[in-house]
Amino acid sequence: VTAGPRVSDVLIVGAGHAGTQVVAALRSSGHPGSVTVLSDEETLPYERPPLSKGYLTAAQTAEEIAFRPADWWSGAADLHLGRRVCAVDPVARTVETADGARFGYRALVWAAGGRARALPVSAAELPGVHTVRTLADATALRADLLPGTRLVVVGGGYIGLETAAAAVGLGLSVTVVETADRLLARVTGESVSRFYDTLHTDAGVTVLTGRRVVGLRGEQRVSAVELEDGTRLPADVVVVGVGLVPATEVLERAGARVDGGVLVDAQCRTDLPSVFAIGDCTRRSHPHAGPVPARIESVANATEQAKIVAAVLTERATPAPSVPWFWSHQYDVMLRTVGVRHPADVEVVRGDPASGRFTVCYLRNGVLVALDCVDRPADFAQGKALVARGARVSPESLADPAVSLKQAADISETAA
Ligand code: ADP
Repeated sequence: VTAGPRVSDVLIVGAGHAGTQVVAALRSSGHPGSVTVLSDEETLPYERPPLSKGYLTAAQTAEEIAFRPADWWSGAADLHLGRRVCAVDPVARTVETADGARFGYRALVWAAGGRARALPVSAAELPGVHTVRTLADATALRADLLPGTRLVVVGGGYIGLETAAAAVGLGLSVTVVETADRLLARVTGESVSRFYDTLHTDAGVTVLTGRRVVGLRGEQRVSAVELEDGTRLPADVVVVGVGLVPATEVLERAGARVDGGVLVDAQCRTDLPSVFAIGDCTRRSHPHAGPVPARIESVANATEQAKIVAAVLTERATPAPSVPWFWSHQYDVMLRTVGVRHPADVEVVRGDPASGRFTVCYLRNGVLVALDCVDRPADFAQGKALVARGARVSPESLADPAVSLKQAADISETAA
């Protein structure tokens, strides 16, 4: 008779923000059971946002961005590094790792995040071509960011732009190539896109929008990036920041419903028994993200879903969904976004973008649904509360930056 795999009360796959926060929440609520964490990375779990910011410029070290020291982990969970889960058996309630080990669970929490999308071109694997998703990625990139060299960033989303800002600060010559006709088109409106285009251009970055990368060239190492119009951009280093592929395949093979993300309910349950999923790999219905389930790629969402799962597992009331939010730091400019904007929303600009401090408010049928706050922290705090309660605010009162958002809502509601 061979012994079966060791069974954990809670088995967590992935130790990013989502997985780590489940451990922290279980421990702080006094969960008495055994908790095992499987991570495919070799390093102690760390915070991801600095990877495209302070960690690249060496302002922060790997130790500084670790979530918790090793001795916290040894008291909190059985943490296994370097273990990639390649199969889930929802009937036997076990998972299998690439090195052939098996782990049993009473509850499984899938917090596997995703991998950086690769460019669908040949030579995308050449030395000198980087993505920025893991600490190992950022460590390799950092070693290549040498003053005086030429960096081409493919993709004008947050990852690409934050990396561009860090590289300019390190003295590289930087070009950003974006397929869409403006930067940040997936996540923000035109006013904010225009502001970031100017910000980067003024810092010395060459911003090319409406241009598609069709190939990478080089022998031992990347030497150029080819665009669709035939332009060849010389490059010593290339960063590919073209989005995330959510880690859904293993759960899909196990029979979970997947559609651009693992579909989960308000309690983060998948449709496999005792299997939960949280964080970047999931799609959830969210009262503040519109009518269809959304994949909300943010630290705040990972943390919120982690707390929900921990509450379910400890049989406590689950926290109510809060308004999604996100931040991006580029140069010395802090952007904080609230809510999930849709392209059809009406944009109202508060303050002058040329001053470097402004907020863009997004209205849907007269209701404030989202904001992008550029160095206006009071707008972020007040705007979040207004979005949470579905406040109706008139465009006229929103547009006056001298009137606080809270006052603007009071004025609109009194007038109505
Ligand atoms: P990330 O979180 O990695 O920044 P986003 O999806 O927010 O991801 O942004 C990625 C950006 O990359 C998008 O603006 C998209 O239009 C752009 N993009 C995707 N493929 C290409 C390509 N081949 N060349 C240039 N830009 C691309």
